[in-house]
Amino acid sequence: MDCCSQPGLMPIEQARSLLRDSASLKTQIQTVSLEDALGRVLAEDIVSPINIPPFDNSAMDGYAICAEQLPNNKTLPLSHKVFAGDTQQLALESGHCVRIMTGAPLPPGCDAVEMQENTEINADNEQQITFNQPINKGKNVRLKGEDVKQGQVVIPAKTRLNSSHIGLLATLGINEISVQSLLKVALFSSGDELIQPGKTLKHGQIYDSNRFAIRALLAKLPVEIIDLGVIADDKQLVTEAFIKADQVADIVICSGGVSVGEADYTKLVLDEIGDINFWKLAIKPGKPFAYGKLPNSYFIGLPGNPVSAYVTFYKLAMLVIAKTCGWDYKEPLAIPAKSSQDFKKSPGRTDYQRGFASISASGQLEVKSTGAQGSAIFTSLTEANCFVVLEQDRGRVSAGEMVTIEMFAEPIL
Ligand code: AMP
Ligand code: MG
Repeated sequence: MDCCSQPGLMPIEQARSLLRDSASLKTQIQTVSLEDALGRVLAEDIVSPINIPPFDNSAMDGYAICAEQLPNNKTLPLSHKVFAGDTQQLALESGHCVRIMTGAPLPPGCDAVEMQENTEINADNEQQITFNQPINKGKNVRLKGEDVKQGQVVIPAKTRLNSSHIGLLATLGINEISVQSLLKVALFSSGDELIQPGKTLKHGQIYDSNRFAIRALLAKLPVEIIDLGVIADDKQLVTEAFIKADQVADIVICSGGVSVGEADYTKLVLDEIGDINFWKLAIKPGKPFAYGKLPNSYFIGLPGNPVSAYVTFYKLAMLVIAKTCGWDYKEPLAIPAKSSQDFKKSPGRTDYQRGFASISASGQLEVKSTGAQGSAIFTSLTEANCFVVLEQDRGRVSAGEMVTIEMFAEPIL
């Protein structure tokens, strides 16, 4: 069966572009210190206030010279020493060399540094240094501005700051950064069967895992989590939960209750208080998905089945979160890999199967399944290191065929 013979199923890319187009910024600009900037989204371009390096300096411990002054006998008298951190600028005495340490400013008149391992101190006169190799101008010199020019945009607005950005900001001497405020995300689970981990299960009950998995995903994002717990399958309680969540949050995320069961009050309630679309997505796992606007916030209704909730959060909710907090989110690279086994698949929905990618003995990137792929089977997710993305119209995959994988990536380096 292809997608056209399943009327009403929305292709995943269509859903993704609807999400991208509809969501808009919910956060405000605030200033944070460098210490608090990791993981935050830049509100403005970072323009370098200085050159990096700020001055010409030595890349080696050795001797600084003027390359064209090196005589044929390759020996130069030593004038003075310069250390990293020296702020005074003593110029090169013509026809001399200067003892220099890594990171020390290059004395005026010098244009090259020879590493000490390629030199010899004269046995009779330690003020005479012999250079064993020819030296070209620029050797072992780190030039002012060679990394960053003053005025250059070094990190564009909408970037989420990772550890390397923090290092660069410190290099530039920037200690106050304009970022987006944390997005407020309210989260709850819906279902009478759900109980808190740690309690004893009665027959018919299961532990509420979605709230914890989604919380764990949210914890890595630039958001403030408002955990509203589990809401029972009761119209009044569901209504109260949505109204409360909408008042305190920019995004409300709920899992469960978005399909068509008799206890699924979500649709009933949301139709009364918001403008929500209930989609049946051509994606596996994860068919039912709800998205739209409440009076104050965006609403995302994830499917109840745990792997479906996880996958739809990853592929869909992430887009709304990124857009609403002004983050130019780059999704993991889709990479071609060879399937090392058959993958069951029927045409009609895009599959996000859970797989394990590795490099074979011959150097080929290959992927195998992590086992049963049911939408409630979480173990195939925990054992995986990638999604195997099998296109909507594709059927069964035989071992040896190429497939697309998306490696699991931490949003922060
Ligand atoms: P629903 O969409 O509410 O019909 O739920 C679909 C399936 O997902 C049912 O088997 C639920 O018991 C299960 N489910 C719903 N919410 C959760 C949750 N928070 N944690 C674990 N399983 C859940
Ligand atoms: Mg339910």
